[in-house]
Amino acid sequence: MAVPFRRTSKTKKRMRRTHLVKTARTVLSCPNCGEPIQAHRACTKCGFYKGKNVLNKEDETPVVKEEKEVKEAKKTTAKKASTKKTTAAKETK
Ligand SMILES: [Zn+2]
Repeated sequence: MAVPFRRTSKTKKRMRRTHLVKTARTVLSCPNCGEPIQAHRACTKCGFYKGKNVLNKEDETPVVKEEKEVKEAKKTTAKKASTKKTTAAKETK
């Protein structure tokens, strides 16, 4: 077994250990429920990550539902607008 020739000085030891400092974790608030969460991790309360329920917790997926509703609303508004345009075009003729 190799044996060190000299004992490591206090200074050398402390200089080496300056890199072993633990840093505080970044805490964000969940965009779905507002609970404090770690960055790049699914919410432990509602199981959401990037707007999706990835842990399949009991809560349903209100964000996804809202997105669907918004898309449907856009479709309906687009249809209405197109029908209005067609009716307006007919009226002008
Ligand atoms: Zn959450």
